[in-house]
Amino acid sequence: MPTSRGASVRPLSYARVDRVDDAIALVSSEPNGAFLAGGTTEIDLIRLDVERPELLVDINAIPLREIDDLPDGGIRIGALARLTDVARTPAVADRFPAVSQALLLGASEQLRNMASMGGNLRQRVRCSYFRDGVSPCNKREPGTGCAALEGFNRGHAILGTSEHCIATHPSDVAVALMAFDAVVETLGPDGARTIAFDDFFLVPGDAPEREHPLAHGELIVAIRVPPAPIARRSVYLKFRDRQSYEFALVSVAAAVEVVDGRVAEARLALGGVGTKPWRARRAEAALAGAPAGPEAFLRAARAELADAVPRRHNAFKVELAARAAVRGLTEALR
Ligand code: SF4
Repeated sequence: MPTSRGASVRPLSYARVDRVDDAIALVSSEPNGAFLAGGTTEIDLIRLDVERPELLVDINAIPLREIDDLPDGGIRIGALARLTDVARTPAVADRFPAVSQALLLGASEQLRNMASMGGNLRQRVRCSYFRDGVSPCNKREPGTGCAALEGFNRGHAILGTSEHCIATHPSDVAVALMAFDAVVETLGPDGARTIAFDDFFLVPGDAPEREHPLAHGELIVAIRVPPAPIARRSVYLKFRDRQSYEFALVSVAAAVEVVDGRVAEARLALGGVGTKPWRARRAEAALAGAPAGPEAFLRAARAELADAVPRRHNAFKVELAARAAVRGLTEALR
């Protein structure tokens, strides 16, 4: 395939399979093999010469698009379900409105119709230094440095960062799913396993090139969301520079249950500020038993952001995230 710089042509093999076992065996057999689902990020990155697979295994014919309404009140979403289909499924929209709203706010209709749920969770960061293919970037080429630390870092993360990478995780729906304890089901060369969302997304630490605990050839087959009555009145809010075709500066998934004017339970997750979809557990703990109102909400949000590490251009995110959290929690009360 011609590279974006036109300097060389690299061979790229393509295979299409309709069985999970075949997909896993093929990708496992090629060290530079990769799965191809909707392709909305993968093809971009190949064209940019940022990703260089030698074998693409197209998995779109595998029957993994079912969205199942589970008897216990949870939902199981096939990894190849398209974002639009998930957003418009009544069980999702009714029981987990924040998930549906995050999907609808996440991308244009065209992208939502192509992109798969599994691919959305595995999408790479949008850091421009990562995608330009030439800047120092530990995620793209380990050990080369991080151009964003002293560069233009307005869109970068303030939570979960390290001296090796500060890129923000770009998914919207992962933020909402994080709030409701979703799990990822996988199949791989070593069999099946279930990974909690919080464990599925890795903070960069000193190995930013590693974003998930997946083994080579391990395929996401489904996302399962356990029953969560609190989610029925959940909200997802997204704050960005413009209203469409834009990633979040800050986003918030929130749900609150109130008994006698006090918070009995709260769920809060933040997007646009973390190197992974950020579950605000410290804020949730601070909210437990607190009066359900803006002062307690703001105190809880500030507790969550106490460890934020802002950089030159993104310090505004600390205050924006706190206010967004207050607004999300307040809207979830209605
Ligand atoms: Fe690369 Fe991460 Fe630094 Fe961006 S923030 S340049 S992705 S190491």
